[in-house]
Amino acid sequence: MHEIKLAQGLVGLLDKAVEDPAVKDVKKVHIKVGKLHYIVPEIMQSAFDSTPKNDKLKNAKLEIEVLPVILKCLECSKEHNLNDEQFNVECCENARSEIISGKEFVLEGIEY
Ligand SMILES: [Zn+2]
Repeated sequence: MHEIKLAQGLVGLLDKAVEDPAVKDVKKVHIKVGKLHYIVPEIMQSAFDSTPKNDKLKNAKLEIEVLPVILKCLECSKEHNLNDEQFNVECCENARSEIISGKEFVLEGIEY
């Protein structure tokens, strides 16, 4: 249930964002989450619902976009979009690679 931690972090960001008096009741919260967080959207929503927060956020629904895991081969610079079944880079033998996407957690915007 690491969603609880992420939800608390998100609420921390949102509480600041809704301090602006121009912001009314928030309907939707758009976030982008890298696949390496392995979140389950429904659990993320219920974790969010049960986290204490500003009244303006009470009815907010999360719109979660999951970003793929992308590895970059350090040998040939080729980028590999990985899925669950295939978690290795196969272009160059024994090549090292770095993660360039998949660890994001971004508050993209709010609708109110
Ligand atoms: Zn390569």
